[in-house]
Amino acid sequence: MKHREAGTGLKTAALYVVATPLGNLGDMGVRALEVLRGVDAIACEDTRHTRRLLDHFGIRAETFSLHEHNEAAASVRLLRLLREGGTLALVSDAGTPAVSDPGARAVATVREAGFEVIPIPGPNAAIAALSASGLMDPHFLFYGFLPTKEAARRKAIAALKALPCALVFYEAPHRIEEAVADLALELEPQRTLVIARELTKLFESIVSLPLAEAPAWLAADENRRRGEFVLAVSAPPPAEGVPGVPVEAERVLDLLLDELPLKQAVKLAAGISGASKNALYDLALERRRET
Ligand code: SAM
Repeated sequence: MKHREAGTGLKTAALYVVATPLGNLGDMGVRALEVLRGVDAIACEDTRHTRRLLDHFGIRAETFSLHEHNEAAASVRLLRLLREGGTLALVSDAGTPAVSDPGARAVATVREAGFEVIPIPGPNAAIAALSASGLMDPHFLFYGFLPTKEAARRKAIAALKALPCALVFYEAPHRIEEAVADLALELEPQRTLVIARELTKLFESIVSLPLAEAPAWLAADENRRRGEFVLAVSAPPPAEGVPGVPVEAERVLDLLLDELPLKQAVKLAAGISGASKNALYDLALERRRET
């Protein structure tokens, strides 16, 4: 490893985690360029891919690969270089390393060994999609990729259904139809789905539609299924509840009705929740009629 020339302003014995463009090279950050120009070596998800980026900016850095299948061994190499006082960078093919990309294990290893890890923030597909989605939910959950098998995917979506926040997924073109179909199947049909495709690239498109309409919209034109996708789903609609019975009291009553006679369940639910006994009684009768 050649050691950095003095005067780059970068730290020695440190790992820089550098975000790179999602597609449009104009999104390369000034600081990201300074770091990639100044480091001794760059750990890359795919060295050939990163070489094209480096060539574009005239950067002649040493590279080595750090991907899903060699991350443990590559992390050992990172540690060795850091112990020699090296200044290193970590990049993935696109966007922010360690976000649905290799790098988390390497960063953990480096931090555990006591070396400094410095983020150089920049492009990220989930944040780019959310920022232009028009979704107004104050909270979101970033899920990344859903399971590839149907049963596991449906189960994963069902487990997210009640979370009071928007949901953000990554998806590949060959699974986009199945993933959207399962979202429409498992989640409330009136939730908004934002399909953000090919962000920062020539065919960028960001479409919002009710989840129930999304499968047919995708099926209608094969171009809509091409490229890279972020899917963002709005938070669930507010629970409607029964007049005079708060949602939490309803939940308590339902639990008790499963175990106890009606009158006892109503009395306990009223005591626990503070809700009206009469309203709970009416609701309990309704529940018993339904079953
Ligand atoms: N680390 C990256 C980031 O910071 O966004 C994500 C890497 S992950 C392996 C790749 C996935 O990110 C794609 O399958 C797609 O879901 C999403 N993605 C990446 N680039 C995208 C783009 N230009 N437009 C939409 N989604 C994109």
